[in-house]
Amino acid sequence: MNNLKNIPQVDEVLNQEPVQILTARYNRNYIVLRVRSIIDRLRQELRFDKTPLERADILAMILQQLDQEIIKDQQGSIRRVVNGTGVVLHTNLGRAPLGGRALDYAAKMAGRYNNLEMDLEKGQRGSRYGHVEKLLCRLTGAEAALVVNNNAAAVLLGLTTLAQGREVIVARGQLIEIGGAFRIPEVMKLSGARLVEVGTTNRTYLSDYAAAVSQETALLFTAHSSNYKIVGFVKEVTLPELVQLGAERNIPVMQDLGSGSLCDLSAWGLDEEPTVQACVQAGADIISFSGDKLLGGPQAGILVGKRKWIEAMKQNQLLRALRVDKLTIAALEGTIREYYSGNALENVPILRMIGYSPDDLKKRAEDLARKIRDAAGKNPKLSEVKTCSVQDMIGGGSYPIHKIAGAAVEMSFSGISVESVAVGLRLLDPAILARRQEDHLIISVRTLFDDDIDIISNHLQMILES
Ligand SMILES: *Cc1c(COP(=O)(O)O)cnc(C)c1O
Repeated sequence: MNNLKNIPQVDEVLNQEPVQILTARYNRNYIVLRVRSIIDRLRQELRFDKTPLERADILAMILQQLDQEIIKDQQGSIRRVVNGTGVVLHTNLGRAPLGGRALDYAAKMAGRYNNLEMDLEKGQRGSRYGHVEKLLCRLTGAEAALVVNNNAAAVLLGLTTLAQGREVIVARGQLIEIGGAFRIPEVMKLSGARLVEVGTTNRTYLSDYAAAVSQETALLFTAHSSNYKIVGFVKEVTLPELVQLGAERNIPVMQDLGSGSLCDLSAWGLDEEPTVQACVQAGADIISFSGDKLLGGPQAGILVGKRKWIEAMKQNQLLRALRVDKLTIAALEGTIREYYSGNALENVPILRMIGYSPDDLKKRAEDLARKIRDAAGKNPKLSEVKTCSVQDMIGGGSYPIHKIAGAAVEMSFSGISVESVAVGLRLLDPAILARRQEDHLIISVRTLFDDDIDIISNHLQMILES
Protein backbone atom coordinates (compact mmCIF):
# COMPACT_ATOMS: atom_id res chain seq x y z
CA MET A 1 0.00 0.00 0.00
CA ASN A 2 2.90 2.28 0.80
CA ASN A 3 4.01 2.37 -2.80
CA LEU A 4 0.59 3.52 -4.02
CA LYS A 5 0.69 6.37 -1.54
CA ASN A 6 4.05 7.38 -2.89
CA ILE A 7 2.86 7.73 -6.48
CA PRO A 8 2.77 11.47 -7.24
CA GLN A 9 -0.28 13.28 -8.62
CA VAL A 10 -0.31 14.44 -12.23
CA ASP A 11 0.16 18.09 -11.21
CA GLU A 12 3.17 17.30 -9.14
CA VAL A 13 4.83 15.60 -12.09
CA LEU A 14 3.92 18.48 -14.38
CA ASN A 15 5.59 20.91 -11.98
CA GLN A 16 8.93 19.17 -12.24
CA GLU A 17 11.46 21.24 -14.13
CA PRO A 18 12.29 18.61 -16.84
CA VAL A 19 8.56 18.20 -17.52
CA GLN A 20 8.06 21.95 -17.75
CA ILE A 21 10.68 22.01 -20.47
CA LEU A 22 8.72 19.31 -22.26
CA THR A 23 5.37 21.13 -21.98
CA ALA A 24 6.99 24.24 -23.43
CA ARG A 25 8.38 22.28 -26.33
CA TYR A 26 5.49 19.94 -27.12
CA ASN A 27 1.73 20.28 -26.92
CA ARG A 28 0.80 20.59 -23.22
CA ASN A 29 -2.26 18.36 -23.53
CA TYR A 30 -0.15 15.66 -25.08
CA ILE A 31 2.31 15.72 -22.17
CA VAL A 32 -0.56 15.73 -19.64
CA LEU A 33 -2.13 12.69 -21.32
CA ARG A 34 1.18 10.86 -21.41
CA VAL A 35 1.92 11.58 -17.73
CA ARG A 36 -1.58 10.48 -16.73
CA SER A 37 -1.32 7.18 -18.58
CA ILE A 38 2.12 6.46 -17.10
CA ILE A 39 0.78 7.13 -13.59
CA ASP A 40 -2.27 4.91 -14.22
CA ARG A 41 -0.06 2.14 -15.45
CA LEU A 42 2.28 2.46 -12.45
CA ARG A 43 -0.72 2.21 -10.11
CA GLN A 44 -1.64 -1.11 -11.67
CA GLU A 45 1.92 -2.39 -11.57
CA LEU A 46 2.75 -1.30 -8.04
CA ARG A 47 -0.50 -2.47 -6.49
CA PHE A 48 0.88 -5.93 -5.69
CA ASP A 49 4.51 -4.97 -5.53
CA LYS A 50 5.84 -5.44 -2.02
CA THR A 51 9.27 -3.88 -2.60
CA PRO A 52 9.10 -0.47 -0.95
CA LEU A 53 9.84 2.46 -3.23
CA GLU A 54 10.67 6.04 -2.27
CA ARG A 55 8.59 8.84 -3.75
CA ALA A 56 11.71 10.21 -5.47
CA ASP A 57 12.37 6.83 -7.10
CA ILE A 58 8.85 6.63 -8.44
CA LEU A 59 9.10 10.17 -9.77
CA ALA A 60 12.36 9.29 -11.51
CA MET A 61 10.69 6.23 -13.04
CA ILE A 62 7.88 8.36 -14.38
CA LEU A 63 10.26 10.89 -15.91
CA GLN A 64 12.29 8.16 -17.54
CA GLN A 65 9.20 6.49 -19.02
CA LEU A 66 7.95 9.85 -20.23
CA ASP A 67 11.23 10.45 -22.07
CA GLN A 68 11.09 7.03 -23.68
CA GLU A 69 7.50 7.42 -24.79
CA ILE A 70 8.18 10.82 -26.32
CA ILE A 71 11.15 9.44 -28.25
CA LYS A 72 8.98 6.60 -29.55
CA ASP A 73 6.17 8.97 -30.52
CA GLN A 74 8.62 11.20 -32.37
CA GLN A 75 9.77 8.27 -34.49
CA GLY A 76 6.32 8.13 -35.96
CA SER A 77 4.54 5.13 -37.37
CA ILE A 78 5.85 5.33 -40.91
CA ARG A 79 9.54 4.81 -40.59
CA ARG A 80 12.61 4.44 -42.72
CA VAL A 81 13.57 0.84 -43.47
CA VAL A 82 16.94 -0.48 -44.61
CA ASN A 83 16.08 -3.09 -47.23
CA GLY A 84 18.43 -6.02 -46.90
CA THR A 85 16.09 -8.44 -48.65
CA GLY A 86 17.49 -8.06 -52.17
CA VAL A 87 13.96 -7.53 -53.50
CA VAL A 88 14.30 -4.29 -55.45
CA LEU A 89 10.62 -3.39 -55.74
CA HIS A 90 9.28 -4.57 -52.40
CA THR A 91 5.57 -3.76 -52.23
CA ASN A 92 5.60 -3.86 -48.41
CA LEU A 93 8.54 -1.45 -48.30
CA GLY A 94 7.05 1.31 -50.42
CA ARG A 95 8.15 -0.06 -53.82
CA ALA A 96 10.49 2.38 -55.58
CA PRO A 97 12.61 4.78 -53.52
CA LEU A 98 12.78 8.11 -55.34
CA GLY A 99 15.84 9.59 -56.99
CA GLY A 100 17.40 12.94 -56.19
CA ARG A 101 15.58 15.02 -58.78
CA ALA A 102 12.19 13.57 -57.83
CA LEU A 103 12.87 14.32 -54.17
CA ASP A 104 14.02 17.81 -54.99
CA TYR A 105 10.93 18.62 -57.06
CA ALA A 106 8.56 17.13 -54.49
CA ALA A 107 10.21 18.88 -51.55
CA LYS A 108 10.11 22.26 -53.33
CA MET A 109 6.44 21.96 -54.23
CA ALA A 110 5.38 20.48 -50.90
CA GLY A 111 6.10 23.40 -48.61
CA ARG A 112 5.15 26.29 -50.88
CA TYR A 113 2.44 27.30 -53.35
CA ASN A 114 2.87 26.17 -56.93
CA ASN A 115 1.22 26.28 -60.35
CA LEU A 116 -0.56 22.93 -59.96
CA GLU A 117 -3.67 24.26 -61.72
CA MET A 118 -2.51 27.60 -63.03
CA ASP A 119 -1.39 28.48 -66.52
CA LEU A 120 1.28 31.05 -65.68
CA GLU A 121 1.54 32.39 -69.24
CA LYS A 122 -2.14 33.16 -69.54
CA GLY A 123 -2.67 33.86 -65.86
CA GLN A 124 -5.68 31.57 -65.96
CA ARG A 125 -6.78 28.29 -64.54
CA GLY A 126 -4.72 25.42 -65.96
CA SER A 127 -4.83 21.67 -65.63
CA ARG A 128 -2.91 19.52 -63.18
CA TYR A 129 -2.75 16.83 -65.83
CA GLY A 130 -0.74 18.99 -68.23
CA HIS A 131 2.51 19.07 -66.25
CA VAL A 132 3.80 15.66 -67.28
CA GLU A 133 1.71 14.92 -70.37
CA LYS A 134 4.09 16.33 -72.98
CA LEU A 135 7.07 14.62 -71.42
CA LEU A 136 5.27 11.28 -71.25
CA CYS A 137 4.27 11.63 -74.91
CA ARG A 138 7.83 12.41 -75.97
CA LEU A 139 9.20 9.48 -74.01
CA THR A 140 6.66 6.91 -75.15
CA GLY A 141 5.69 8.18 -78.60
CA ALA A 142 2.02 8.29 -77.56
CA GLU A 143 -0.41 11.02 -78.69
CA ALA A 144 -1.71 11.78 -75.21
CA ALA A 145 -1.22 10.84 -71.57
CA LEU A 146 -2.99 11.05 -68.23
CA VAL A 147 -1.82 10.32 -64.70
CA VAL A 148 -4.05 8.99 -61.92
CA ASN A 149 -3.62 7.62 -58.40
CA ASN A 150 -2.26 4.18 -59.31
CA ASN A 151 -2.45 1.60 -62.06
CA ALA A 152 -5.53 -0.02 -60.53
CA ALA A 153 -7.24 3.38 -60.87
CA ALA A 154 -5.95 3.70 -64.45
CA VAL A 155 -7.48 0.34 -65.41
CA LEU A 156 -10.76 1.24 -63.70
CA LEU A 157 -10.91 4.62 -65.46
CA GLY A 158 -10.13 3.04 -68.83
CA LEU A 159 -12.76 0.34 -68.50
CA THR A 160 -15.42 2.69 -67.13
CA THR A 161 -14.84 5.28 -69.83
CA LEU A 162 -14.67 2.95 -72.80
CA ALA A 163 -16.81 -0.01 -71.85
CA GLN A 164 -19.40 0.78 -69.18
CA GLY A 165 -22.54 -1.27 -69.90
CA ARG A 166 -20.85 -3.02 -72.80
CA GLU A 167 -18.60 -6.04 -73.37
CA VAL A 168 -14.87 -6.42 -72.89
CA ILE A 169 -13.07 -9.44 -74.32
CA VAL A 170 -10.25 -10.89 -72.19
CA ALA A 171 -8.25 -14.11 -72.48
CA ARG A 172 -8.87 -16.56 -69.61
CA GLY A 173 -5.12 -16.79 -68.99
CA GLN A 174 -5.08 -13.05 -68.24
CA LEU A 175 -7.81 -12.88 -65.60
CA ILE A 176 -5.15 -12.10 -63.08
CA GLU A 177 -4.95 -11.10 -59.47
CA ILE A 178 -2.12 -8.73 -58.62
CA GLY A 179 -2.38 -8.96 -54.86
CA GLY A 180 -3.75 -6.38 -52.50
CA ALA A 181 -7.18 -7.37 -53.83
CA PHE A 182 -6.73 -6.19 -57.41
CA ARG A 183 -8.44 -8.75 -59.63
CA ILE A 184 -9.20 -8.04 -63.26
CA PRO A 185 -12.68 -9.67 -63.14
CA GLU A 186 -13.59 -7.66 -60.02
CA VAL A 187 -12.35 -4.36 -61.47
CA MET A 188 -14.33 -5.20 -64.60
CA LYS A 189 -17.50 -5.63 -62.51
CA LEU A 190 -16.85 -2.38 -60.68
CA SER A 191 -16.50 -0.52 -63.98
CA GLY A 192 -19.89 -1.75 -65.17
CA ALA A 193 -18.34 -3.53 -68.15
CA ARG A 194 -19.34 -7.10 -68.96
CA LEU A 195 -16.51 -9.55 -69.08
CA VAL A 196 -16.39 -11.92 -72.04
CA GLU A 197 -13.80 -14.64 -71.42
CA VAL A 198 -12.15 -16.37 -74.33
CA GLY A 199 -9.68 -19.23 -74.76
CA THR A 200 -8.42 -21.50 -72.01
CA THR A 201 -6.06 -20.98 -69.09
CA ASN A 202 -3.00 -21.90 -71.13
CA ARG A 203 -3.97 -21.33 -74.76
CA THR A 204 -5.82 -18.52 -76.48
CA TYR A 205 -5.92 -17.91 -80.25
CA LEU A 206 -6.78 -14.81 -82.23
CA SER A 207 -9.74 -16.78 -83.61
CA ASP A 208 -11.12 -17.01 -80.03
CA TYR A 209 -11.22 -13.22 -79.81
CA ALA A 210 -12.62 -12.88 -83.33
CA ALA A 211 -15.45 -15.33 -82.59
CA ALA A 212 -16.41 -13.42 -79.43
CA VAL A 213 -16.70 -10.01 -81.10
CA SER A 214 -20.29 -8.76 -81.24
CA GLN A 215 -22.29 -5.54 -81.57
CA GLU A 216 -21.82 -5.18 -77.83
CA THR A 217 -18.01 -5.36 -77.84
CA ALA A 218 -16.48 -2.11 -76.60
CA LEU A 219 -12.92 -3.15 -75.95
CA LEU A 220 -10.29 -5.82 -76.43
CA PHE A 221 -8.39 -5.98 -73.17
CA THR A 222 -5.02 -7.54 -72.52
CA ALA A 223 -3.20 -7.71 -69.20
CA HIS A 224 0.47 -8.39 -68.83
CA SER A 225 0.72 -11.43 -66.56
CA SER A 226 3.41 -9.73 -64.57
CA ASN A 227 3.39 -11.71 -61.35
CA TYR A 228 3.22 -15.26 -62.64
CA LYS A 229 4.24 -17.25 -65.65
CA ILE A 230 2.68 -20.19 -67.39
CA VAL A 231 5.27 -22.34 -69.08
CA GLY A 232 4.87 -25.37 -71.33
CA PHE A 233 1.97 -25.80 -73.74
CA VAL A 234 1.11 -22.14 -73.99
CA LYS A 235 -0.30 -19.84 -76.66
CA GLU A 236 -0.94 -16.16 -76.15
CA VAL A 237 -2.12 -13.72 -78.78
CA THR A 238 0.47 -11.00 -79.37
CA LEU A 239 -0.34 -7.32 -79.08
CA PRO A 240 0.16 -6.63 -82.82
CA GLU A 241 -2.26 -9.46 -83.65
CA LEU A 242 -4.86 -8.05 -81.29
CA VAL A 243 -4.33 -4.54 -82.66
CA GLN A 244 -4.88 -5.87 -86.18
CA LEU A 245 -8.17 -7.51 -85.15
CA GLY A 246 -9.22 -4.32 -83.36
CA ALA A 247 -8.50 -2.27 -86.48
CA GLU A 248 -10.50 -4.65 -88.69
CA ARG A 249 -13.54 -4.59 -86.37
CA ASN A 250 -13.14 -0.98 -85.26
CA ILE A 251 -12.69 -1.87 -81.59
CA PRO A 252 -10.02 -0.23 -79.39
CA VAL A 253 -7.37 -2.32 -77.63
CA MET A 254 -6.35 -1.58 -74.05
CA GLN A 255 -3.27 -3.06 -72.48
CA ASP A 256 -2.69 -3.21 -68.73
CA LEU A 257 1.07 -3.34 -68.82
CA GLY A 258 1.62 -3.45 -65.07
CA SER A 259 5.26 -2.51 -64.61
CA GLY A 260 5.70 -0.29 -67.62
CA SER A 261 9.40 0.04 -68.25
CA LEU A 262 10.69 2.97 -70.30
CA CYS A 263 14.11 1.34 -70.65
CA ASP A 264 15.10 -1.71 -72.58
CA LEU A 265 16.44 -3.96 -69.84
CA SER A 266 17.44 -6.83 -72.11
CA ALA A 267 21.15 -6.08 -71.61
CA TRP A 268 20.61 -7.36 -68.05
CA GLY A 269 18.79 -10.45 -69.26
CA LEU A 270 15.43 -8.89 -68.45
CA ASP A 271 13.67 -9.02 -71.78
CA GLU A 272 10.25 -10.38 -70.84
CA GLU A 273 8.91 -6.98 -69.91
CA PRO A 274 8.00 -5.04 -73.07
CA THR A 275 8.76 -1.32 -72.96
CA VAL A 276 5.90 1.15 -73.06
CA GLN A 277 7.33 2.54 -76.29
CA ALA A 278 7.16 -0.90 -77.92
CA CYS A 279 3.47 -1.22 -76.98
CA VAL A 280 2.70 2.25 -78.33
CA GLN A 281 4.50 1.34 -81.52
CA ALA A 282 2.56 -1.91 -81.74
CA GLY A 283 -0.56 0.23 -81.91
CA ALA A 284 -2.33 -0.30 -78.56
CA ASP A 285 -5.02 2.37 -78.17
CA ILE A 286 -4.53 2.68 -74.42
CA ILE A 287 -1.69 1.43 -72.25
CA SER A 288 -1.69 1.66 -68.49
CA PHE A 289 1.19 1.11 -66.08
CA SER A 290 2.41 1.93 -62.57
CA GLY A 291 4.63 4.86 -61.66
CA ASP A 292 6.35 3.01 -58.81
CA LYS A 293 7.33 -0.25 -60.42
CA LEU A 294 10.05 -0.42 -63.10
CA LEU A 295 9.65 3.28 -63.84
CA GLY A 296 11.10 3.94 -60.39
CA GLY A 297 8.92 6.91 -59.48
CA PRO A 298 6.09 7.70 -57.05
CA GLN A 299 2.87 5.72 -56.75
CA ALA A 300 0.84 6.66 -59.81
CA GLY A 301 -1.11 5.12 -62.65
CA ILE A 302 -0.04 6.31 -66.07
CA LEU A 303 -2.29 6.06 -69.13
CA VAL A 304 -0.84 6.72 -72.56
CA GLY A 305 -2.43 6.26 -75.95
CA LYS A 306 -4.68 7.71 -78.63
CA ARG A 307 -5.83 11.25 -77.93
CA LYS A 308 -9.50 10.46 -78.51
CA TRP A 309 -9.61 7.95 -75.64
CA ILE A 310 -7.41 9.90 -73.24
CA GLU A 311 -9.64 12.97 -73.79
CA ALA A 312 -12.71 10.86 -73.04
CA MET A 313 -11.11 9.76 -69.77
CA LYS A 314 -10.31 13.37 -68.88
CA GLN A 315 -14.04 14.13 -69.22
CA ASN A 316 -15.09 11.25 -66.96
CA GLN A 317 -16.40 12.38 -63.54
CA LEU A 318 -14.61 9.40 -62.00
CA LEU A 319 -11.28 11.10 -62.73
CA ARG A 320 -11.91 13.53 -59.89
CA ALA A 321 -11.94 10.65 -57.42
CA LEU A 322 -8.78 9.14 -58.87
CA ARG A 323 -6.76 12.28 -59.31
CA VAL A 324 -3.14 12.68 -58.34
CA ASP A 325 -1.73 15.05 -55.79
CA LYS A 326 0.85 17.79 -56.44
CA LEU A 327 3.56 15.78 -54.64
CA THR A 328 3.02 12.87 -57.00
CA ILE A 329 3.10 15.09 -60.05
CA ALA A 330 6.29 16.77 -58.87
CA ALA A 331 8.02 13.47 -58.05
CA LEU A 332 6.85 11.92 -61.32
CA GLU A 333 8.14 14.86 -63.34
CA GLY A 334 11.46 14.65 -61.48
CA THR A 335 11.66 10.95 -62.31
CA ILE A 336 10.74 11.07 -65.97
CA ARG A 337 13.01 14.05 -66.61
CA GLU A 338 15.86 11.71 -65.72
CA TYR A 339 14.74 9.50 -68.60
CA TYR A 340 14.27 12.44 -70.92
CA SER A 341 17.37 14.54 -70.37
CA GLY A 342 19.28 13.03 -67.45
CA ASN A 343 20.76 9.66 -66.71
CA ALA A 344 18.01 7.30 -65.59
CA LEU A 345 20.22 4.22 -65.35
CA GLU A 346 22.39 6.01 -62.82
CA ASN A 347 19.95 8.36 -61.07
CA VAL A 348 16.77 6.32 -60.76
CA PRO A 349 17.62 4.22 -57.68
CA ILE A 350 15.88 1.00 -58.71
CA LEU A 351 17.56 1.02 -62.13
CA ARG A 352 20.94 1.61 -60.52
CA MET A 353 20.27 -1.34 -58.18
CA ILE A 354 19.17 -3.62 -61.00
CA GLY A 355 22.22 -2.63 -63.01
CA TYR A 356 24.97 -3.35 -60.46
CA SER A 357 27.66 -5.60 -61.91
CA PRO A 358 28.72 -8.78 -60.05
CA ASP A 359 31.97 -6.98 -59.20
CA ASP A 360 30.13 -3.95 -57.76
CA LEU A 361 28.04 -6.25 -55.60
CA LYS A 362 30.99 -8.30 -54.41
CA LYS A 363 32.82 -5.14 -53.39
CA ARG A 364 29.78 -3.82 -51.54
CA ALA A 365 29.38 -7.12 -49.68
CA GLU A 366 33.03 -7.15 -48.66
CA ASP A 367 32.71 -3.57 -47.51
CA LEU A 368 29.67 -4.36 -45.38
CA ALA A 369 31.28 -7.49 -43.90
CA ARG A 370 34.36 -5.49 -42.91
CA LYS A 371 32.28 -2.74 -41.30
CA ILE A 372 30.28 -5.30 -39.34
CA ARG A 373 33.43 -7.06 -38.13
CA ASP A 374 34.95 -3.74 -37.06
CA ALA A 375 31.82 -2.70 -35.21
CA ALA A 376 31.39 -6.03 -33.45
CA GLY A 377 35.02 -6.12 -32.37
CA LYS A 378 35.65 -9.34 -30.52
CA ASN A 379 32.06 -9.77 -29.36
CA PRO A 380 31.62 -13.55 -29.09
CA LYS A 381 27.89 -13.31 -29.87
CA LEU A 382 28.78 -12.75 -33.52
CA SER A 383 30.33 -16.10 -34.33
CA GLU A 384 30.80 -15.69 -38.08
CA VAL A 385 30.59 -12.99 -40.75
CA LYS A 386 31.23 -13.83 -44.38
CA THR A 387 30.17 -12.82 -47.86
CA CYS A 388 28.06 -15.17 -49.93
CA SER A 389 26.12 -15.38 -53.19
CA VAL A 390 22.34 -14.95 -53.14
CA GLN A 391 19.44 -14.77 -55.55
CA ASP A 392 17.91 -11.30 -55.64
CA MET A 393 14.60 -10.43 -57.22
CA ILE A 394 13.07 -7.49 -59.06
CA GLY A 395 9.74 -7.85 -57.23
CA GLY A 396 6.73 -5.55 -57.51
CA GLY A 397 5.06 -8.12 -59.70
CA SER A 398 7.75 -7.94 -62.39
CA TYR A 399 9.82 -10.88 -63.50
CA PRO A 400 8.12 -13.34 -61.16
CA ILE A 401 10.49 -16.23 -61.75
CA HIS A 402 13.54 -14.27 -62.72
CA LYS A 403 16.28 -14.39 -60.10
CA ILE A 404 19.26 -12.10 -60.42
CA ALA A 405 22.63 -13.12 -59.02
CA GLY A 406 23.42 -11.02 -55.98
CA ALA A 407 25.90 -10.78 -53.14
CA ALA A 408 25.26 -10.68 -49.43
CA VAL A 409 26.73 -10.82 -45.97
CA GLU A 410 25.88 -13.90 -43.94
CA MET A 411 26.05 -13.80 -40.16
CA SER A 412 25.87 -16.51 -37.53
CA PHE A 413 25.44 -15.92 -33.80
CA SER A 414 26.06 -17.73 -30.58
CA GLY A 415 24.45 -17.08 -27.21
CA ILE A 416 21.75 -15.04 -28.92
CA SER A 417 19.10 -16.42 -31.29
CA VAL A 418 18.91 -15.32 -34.93
CA GLU A 419 15.28 -14.53 -34.27
CA SER A 420 16.07 -12.07 -31.50
CA VAL A 421 18.71 -10.34 -33.64
CA ALA A 422 16.22 -10.11 -36.52
CA VAL A 423 13.53 -8.65 -34.24
CA GLY A 424 16.03 -6.26 -32.67
CA LEU A 425 17.06 -4.99 -36.11
CA ARG A 426 13.44 -4.50 -37.14
CA LEU A 427 12.56 -2.49 -34.06
CA LEU A 428 15.37 0.05 -34.23
CA ASP A 429 15.03 3.27 -36.20
CA PRO A 430 15.71 3.01 -39.12
CA ALA A 431 14.41 -0.55 -39.11
CA ILE A 432 16.61 -3.12 -40.81
CA LEU A 433 15.05 -5.95 -42.76
CA ALA A 434 17.25 -8.98 -43.39
CA ARG A 435 16.61 -12.45 -44.77
CA ARG A 436 16.70 -15.48 -42.51
CA GLN A 437 18.10 -18.72 -43.75
CA GLU A 438 18.18 -21.57 -41.27
CA ASP A 439 20.29 -20.17 -38.44
CA HIS A 440 21.93 -17.38 -40.42
CA LEU A 441 20.95 -13.82 -41.04
CA ILE A 442 21.56 -12.64 -44.59
CA ILE A 443 21.75 -9.05 -45.77
CA SER A 444 21.70 -8.64 -49.53
CA VAL A 445 23.67 -5.59 -50.65
CA ARG A 446 21.90 -4.84 -53.95
CA THR A 447 19.07 -2.99 -52.24
CA LEU A 448 21.24 -1.02 -49.80
CA PHE A 449 21.98 2.68 -50.11
CA ASP A 450 25.52 3.80 -49.27
CA ASP A 451 24.49 5.28 -45.93
CA ASP A 452 22.77 2.04 -44.93
CA ILE A 453 26.12 0.34 -44.36
CA ASP A 454 26.93 2.37 -41.23
CA ILE A 455 23.39 2.03 -39.93
CA ILE A 456 23.60 -1.74 -40.17
CA SER A 457 26.96 -2.02 -38.42
CA ASN A 458 25.98 0.44 -35.68
CA HIS A 459 22.64 -1.22 -35.00
CA LEU A 460 24.17 -4.69 -34.95
CA GLN A 461 26.74 -3.47 -32.46
CA MET A 462 23.98 -2.08 -30.23
CA ILE A 463 22.07 -5.37 -30.31
CA LEU A 464 25.14 -7.48 -29.63
CA GLU A 465 26.16 -5.30 -26.70
CA SER A 466 22.75 -5.15 -25.08
C1 LIG B 1 0.89 -3.96 -60.40
C2 LIG B 1 -0.17 -4.18 -61.39
C3 LIG B 1 -1.41 -3.54 -61.27
C4 LIG B 1 -1.74 -2.63 -60.13
O1 LIG B 1 -0.95 -1.48 -60.18
P1 LIG B 1 -0.92 -0.47 -58.93
O2 LIG B 1 -0.10 0.67 -59.43
O3 LIG B 1 -0.29 -1.22 -57.81
O4 LIG B 1 -2.32 -0.08 -58.64
C5 LIG B 1 -2.35 -3.78 -62.25
N1 LIG B 1 -2.09 -4.61 -63.29
C6 LIG B 1 -0.90 -5.24 -63.43
C7 LIG B 1 -0.68 -6.13 -64.63
C8 LIG B 1 0.11 -5.03 -62.51
O5 LIG B 1 1.28 -5.66 -62.64
